[in-house]
Amino acid sequence: MQLKDIDNSICNKCYSDAIEKRYTNAEKSWNNNYQLYINSNNEQWITNFLVLLDSAVKKTKNSNYFRWFPSGDLPSMDFLEKIVTIANKRPNISFWMPTKQIDIVSEYVAFNKVPNNLTIRVSSYMINQKPPNLALGLTTSTVSEKIDTNKINCPATFKIGSEENINGKCGSCKMCWSNKVPNIDYKLH
Ligand code: SF4
Repeated sequence: MQLKDIDNSICNKCYSDAIEKRYTNAEKSWNNNYQLYINSNNEQWITNFLVLLDSAVKKTKNSNYFRWFPSGDLPSMDFLEKIVTIANKRPNISFWMPTKQIDIVSEYVAFNKVPNNLTIRVSSYMINQKPPNLALGLTTSTVSEKIDTNKINCPATFKIGSEENINGKCGSCKMCWSNKVPNIDYKLH
């Protein structure tokens, strides 16, 4: 059984699943990206990725903020090592990596330093659950049905704060990319 098959899990309400059903090309494209990773050697994949990243930086507003895995998750320790290499090679870019792969990231940070421009944010598994208990200085995220003003709340999903946030956009908020924000609570959506 997968997490997405469990009622009340965050994956059970996954927006990527909905995207896959609505836009069939999305799944194809995500699979293609994964195949490119599988079939490339280490240096070639990193070089190709940096070319695409640099090109995006030139074209896009706010592109010095990069989010890994808008869908899916960290497939392996090898992939995490590549993410760290890329962050080290582009210190001017802030990287945010949301993940539920606690075992991989815990093993990595036990023996290695994470660059300051890479925020690894470990997500809880279940809706309304407390943040994952991590002793290693990793940041976390949770998902709740109701706002709790004692928490640090995502303004976009709770639709609070500036006009952009009320319209469900990040706007100028960059909390997810900050190692100084220990946990962010997103509203279930
Ligand atoms: S950057 Fe801010 S607004 Fe965007 S998802 Fe993170 S907490 Fe929400």
